[in-house]
Amino acid sequence: MRRSRALVLLCVLLVGFVPAVAQDAADINAKIRKEENENSQILRTMHFLTDVYGPRLTGSPNLKAAGEWAIKQMTEWGFENGHLEPWDFGHPGWANERFSGFITSPVKDTLTCEVLAWTPGTNGAVTARAYQMVLPEKPTQEEFTAYLAKQKENVKGKIVLAGKGQMVPVTLTPPVRRQDDKQAKERYDPNNPNAGQGRGGNRRQQEPPAPGKLTARQIEEQLDQFLVAGGALIRVNDAGREHRQIRAFNNRSFDAAKALPTVVMSNEDYGRITRILADGTSVELEFNIVNRWYPEGKTAYNTVAEIPGTDKKDEVVMLGGHLDSWHSATGATDNAIGCAVMMEAARILKAIGVKPRRTIRVALWSGEEQGLLGSQAYVKQHFGTFEEPKPEYSKLVAYFNVDSGTGRVRGASVFGPPDAAAIVRQALAPFEDLGVMGAIASKSRALGGTDSTSFSQAGLPGIGLGQDPIEYNSATWHTNLDTYERIIEDDVKKSSIAVAAALYQLAMRDELLPRFSKETMPPLPPREGTPATTTPTTPTPPR
Ligand SMILES: [Zn+2]
Repeated sequence: MRRSRALVLLCVLLVGFVPAVAQDAADINAKIRKEENENSQILRTMHFLTDVYGPRLTGSPNLKAAGEWAIKQMTEWGFENGHLEPWDFGHPGWANERFSGFITSPVKDTLTCEVLAWTPGTNGAVTARAYQMVLPEKPTQEEFTAYLAKQKENVKGKIVLAGKGQMVPVTLTPPVRRQDDKQAKERYDPNNPNAGQGRGGNRRQQEPPAPGKLTARQIEEQLDQFLVAGGALIRVNDAGREHRQIRAFNNRSFDAAKALPTVVMSNEDYGRITRILADGTSVELEFNIVNRWYPEGKTAYNTVAEIPGTDKKDEVVMLGGHLDSWHSATGATDNAIGCAVMMEAARILKAIGVKPRRTIRVALWSGEEQGLLGSQAYVKQHFGTFEEPKPEYSKLVAYFNVDSGTGRVRGASVFGPPDAAAIVRQALAPFEDLGVMGAIASKSRALGGTDSTSFSQAGLPGIGLGQDPIEYNSATWHTNLDTYERIIEDDVKKSSIAVAAALYQLAMRDELLPRFSKETMPPLPPREGTPATTTPTTPTPPR
């Protein structure tokens, strides 16, 4: 009798309990949507991170100020423990303050260029004749040395166009802007053997260098050395992209003495000068470049703030993106928007007044563009690795990362066993109407692409969010066009809603996310950059 009464009671409790949990999740999700749709702060955050503090090159005062602003803002939203965490970048900060470039003869016109980061300025206007070097293709060391020896007299006192003009064909088939729902579903379907394909698309397969040939990087390095020693005045590179898009990266030595003042010129201006020179007409150019160096930039900072948890507050759910950018625009799609979406996702939870059981920690990284340096330093310092864990290693539930532009989130790639992806999939399932199509498990511990891989490399549950491409790979990624205007408000609001919901679910569950065991943890891939044959022919910087 007593036993059957107890059973009846248990059944009543269970029947009452299960729907209550589901109801609770539905209520929270409705509140999350409402908060974002009625009170979104994303565009305001974007305005400050881009218009006011951009560009945010690692080591620059702008980046530090952007981090300080983000802390102030998150503190105003009610977050706690906001602070900058230093790590050793090892290179001074650098910023371009002024630039002008002109063709002065045989015609007069303004040139569209961007300055290469960590190169010296000109100390005033420099006017000189242009000389174009037509570099040998894939030379051996002997061939390149012989070529440079013949060029010695030609470059002295000249503004040197380094390489022939590139032919950029007109794009006749526009790239896809949105992934259709069917494709996105397939991509995040755990039962699809090809799931996970079609990610981002920035990672070109690196061709291994032919034996005996110099790599592109070796050629670059030797050419810089030669131009400095040979008394050339300025180096000009061809942007090699359509519609005056320019991607300007950096002097890889970070040393002003090892490079000339260097600009990347629009393919259109470079082509015009190339064609005039080819007529046998001499060309005169004028440049004025003012760059500033900041020794204090050797210490860079990650930006961190938290919503403290309650009964499980020593366990942490992390989310973030990199705050540093390249310098030729204000770094909107790469990656102020990732930071703004993640700040917003956490803000929503604070605003609707939920009390997460675990601590929610926003981290905005620096040094990503120079090789995921800030997030790697953080993981090393706080968590260690699966092989050499620190006490915090077992306390991290997961780290969510956004870093592929303005496109709405379409799914998640979760480092861990299939059970871990299933939990994230379940948390995201109520957002199919916003375009979120699922989650799949990843086994890759390869470092690269973006900051979630700093976590997965260490064996921690790094979660990379996949997005609609919009204009990211075609126009904004690392270019001079990466500005506030390229952000689609509706997409980024949808992303922050889905992230907020997933974050909340992971912060509330009884258990951590399942992890690989000692038996199932994938081995670390061989380290990149080890000598021998792995040196890439064309350096592909991180996103
Ligand atoms: Zn990026």
